[in-house]
Amino acid sequence: QAFLANIEAANPRLNAYVEVTADRALEMARASDARIASGEAGALEGAPLGIKDLFCTDGVQTTAGSNMLRGFVPPYESTVTANLWRDGAVMLGKLNMDEFAMGSSNETSAFGPVVNPWKSKASNADLTPGGSSGGSASAVAADLCLAATASDTGGSIRQPAAFTGTVGVKPTYGRASRYGMVAFASSLDQAGPIAKTVEDAALLLRSMCSFDEKDSTSLEVETPDWTAAVGKSVKGLRVGVPAEYVMDGMPAEILNLWEQGQAWLKDAGAEIVPISLPHTKYALPAYYIVAPAEASSNLARYDGMRFGHRAEGAKSLGDLYEKTRAEGFGKEVQRRLTIGAYVLSAGFYDAFYVRALKVRRRIAQDFDEAWKACDVVLTPSTPSAAFAIGDKQIDPITMYLNDVFTVTANLAGLPGVSVPAGLDAGGLPLGLQVIGRALDEATMFSAAAALE
Ligand code: GLN
Repeated sequence: QAFLANIEAANPRLNAYVEVTADRALEMARASDARIASGEAGALEGAPLGIKDLFCTDGVQTTAGSNMLRGFVPPYESTVTANLWRDGAVMLGKLNMDEFAMGSSNETSAFGPVVNPWKSKASNADLTPGGSSGGSASAVAADLCLAATASDTGGSIRQPAAFTGTVGVKPTYGRASRYGMVAFASSLDQAGPIAKTVEDAALLLRSMCSFDEKDSTSLEVETPDWTAAVGKSVKGLRVGVPAEYVMDGMPAEILNLWEQGQAWLKDAGAEIVPISLPHTKYALPAYYIVAPAEASSNLARYDGMRFGHRAEGAKSLGDLYEKTRAEGFGKEVQRRLTIGAYVLSAGFYDAFYVRALKVRRRIAQDFDEAWKACDVVLTPSTPSAAFAIGDKQIDPITMYLNDVFTVTANLAGLPGVSVPAGLDAGGLPLGLQVIGRALDEATMFSAAAALE
């Protein structure tokens, strides 16, 4: 009830929720009370969560931030959310996001931008909470839920976490089932939590992850209790600092924060190791070929025939496709689909798509090489603090640069976490990112907790 009251008070301004499921929340909470009373409490019993609106929720509208799916009520539950309900969590509602998770500022949502609860001392402008999981990050930061689910294809959990002073985790690719998650780029998409603390995030991630036969890329591995890693000593831990992440024109406060993070870990007994990830500069271009290519294939299902939006007055099948997609998809989604279709087309497939896959392999090999010298990699989460709504909308390339530190973990399938680590000159939160070895979230969580 306290969270529902917070939502009622602040959501009209923040626009973090696209739908509040108050009756269902209270009903779930009562069931939790009963289980607690009878001594059957689950790991997340009674925890009020917000759900990013790309997780299919049985009987509750799921839009992925798009007019294409407005009114779509899934007849089934995503595996990730089903796991959360199994452990006793309570759903408060569905959270706003960039359309089909394409964006870094939540401005591509058909439901309008989300507002960051933080304000800069320097100006009164409304700031973005980042994206695509902007609703999740804003809701957690403003106490409109205890924690939230989110998804990360190129940084969409970690960047919004950094912009809102929250903790965001993307697990190893294959740990969380993609079944019932609206697809963007299937070889990169992973679900994960946004929470207030590293410990909360570790607890939530454990519930979210499971082997799932319904997702062909799901890994058949144990899900450890990561809370045990939180607070564990980092003495002797080798922390890699990649030379290539020092970018031209990087603001001094980001560099200072990064150095501060190294000093904190060193004080805690870790060893700082300079490393090289030589293909870093190709990561962003490779991502912006692979992700749109997969999107253009995944989103082909929105044809006006099976579910979602259908345009009126079409004269032929082709006409129906065109009208439906012109009405249902926003500008950024249309841009991605155009790029994706182009790089997959017969004449350009080898020059763009195949080449991007080779670069992706190189980036993964860079990390394989780095793990010989270090156990985790430390980087800034983003090249800046939160920016004002409207600031970067004019130029898609400037917007894409936001993802420069985060896309490598997706391309290589590695786990990554963003931890709040300080404030910029305007008093806005900044994050540091810890990347771990595949399936070694435990070490990543220990390092992250040492930075908290
Ligand atoms: N900002 C990136 C993009 O627009 C990443 C999005 C995401 O991780 N879903 O593609």
